[in-house]
Amino acid sequence: MFRVLTVFLLVSVVYAKHEIYEGWSNYEFEVENEAQTKYVFMLEDQLGLDIWSHPGPSHSGMVLVPKDKKEEAAHKLRLAGIKFRPTVDNVKEQLDIEDRIMAAASRRTVSSDITSKAALPLDRVYTWEEVEDYMVRLARNYPDKVTLVNGGSSFEGRPINYLRISSTNFQDTSKPVVFMQSLLHSREWLTQAAALYAIDKLVVNNTESDLINDIDWIIVPTANPDGFVYSHETDRWWRKNRRDDIEFDSEEIIPGLEDWCVGVDLNRNHDVDWASFSSNKVCAGDFHGTAPFSEPETSVTKRILDEHKDRIELFLDIHSYGSYVLYPYGTAILPPNALMLHRVGILIGNAIDAVKLPENPNYTVGNSGLVLYRASGGTDDYALSVGVPYAYTLELTQFRGSNTRFSVNLALLEQGGYETFEGIKAGARFVRDNYRMRKDRQ
Ligand SMILES: [Zn+2]
Repeated sequence: MFRVLTVFLLVSVVYAKHEIYEGWSNYEFEVENEAQTKYVFMLEDQLGLDIWSHPGPSHSGMVLVPKDKKEEAAHKLRLAGIKFRPTVDNVKEQLDIEDRIMAAASRRTVSSDITSKAALPLDRVYTWEEVEDYMVRLARNYPDKVTLVNGGSSFEGRPINYLRISSTNFQDTSKPVVFMQSLLHSREWLTQAAALYAIDKLVVNNTESDLINDIDWIIVPTANPDGFVYSHETDRWWRKNRRDDIEFDSEEIIPGLEDWCVGVDLNRNHDVDWASFSSNKVCAGDFHGTAPFSEPETSVTKRILDEHKDRIELFLDIHSYGSYVLYPYGTAILPPNALMLHRVGILIGNAIDAVKLPENPNYTVGNSGLVLYRASGGTDDYALSVGVPYAYTLELTQFRGSNTRFSVNLALLEQGGYETFEGIKAGARFVRDNYRMRKDRQ
């Protein structure tokens, strides 16, 4: 009896957790001019819409609409002449499906053998703890290549650990450093596969020795651990970190959406044009925080960049989704090296396109403010501002067939990791070659 009850309770917990999204819908939308873009942003604040993806050259936009706001949102979009169509009527059903698939996959347990040298198979999304354990295991079993570094702690006190991968223990300064991070936006689960795939191909199953002989790597698999844990346990579509000690005006709260008044958008918190194209409202999805680098998570990224900025030649902040290689500045102002950023961005995008699934769009390369929309305080902007010549935000492929967009298709995790790494390799080899040229000139 007790066992039956336990099972029942577990099942209840799993399926009750998405109740908040009962009856919420996804609308696909298109905008024809900047006024319409601004209008959608305004609706985001006014009605609590959550813009998942902005319309761009390769796809239409996607927005999540609260149950009680569907009629009003539809009415206002129509009045503004914005084309839209509902794509998912009740997103909770999609989340329940994802849960069932994920629960089945989780039963395939990972080896707890600390001496195992095997890579984590890319057949599911791993929890924060599982990835932490994996990193500890790699550092222990590949001491000649891997160092585990504690970069600091998150708001809730979780360690933000990352890997330094190097055949020379980071001592050979003639090598450039490639720095990549995933899951700064916690709901973008596909980006974990990109980090794990890269770790696998650099450490465990390395068949291209130049990547590790010529280049040092810094990989942060979980840049926002609190948000990521929260996205597993409570709200699958959580984007920000989990800071909960900022006071705000109660008028900011959109009725029914009190839960959103927590957290800072870490990709708006860096010290470049801070607060110029982001929200000062605590309850907003793109709330920029109380000051530049107010958040412990962004401070970790800053410290890594500051410590290694002389050698970091390529920085990649990995997000999903949309199939984009985006470069600074988020304000739509082009940096002096924009042409080279564009050129290397095309190398990266083309390398991914060469191996992508035929039904998915090609990557679009461009300045993020011009191709998508203007935003400030982004990680790639900060990397560029401290002297990293090639700093990008990748928006990974949105695989067809995953209706709710942030949901991951487990059968395509490996493909996501593989195609992204093709792009990363192309960028890494370019900066390797040019870093040497640059050094020779000095
Ligand atoms: Zn993102």
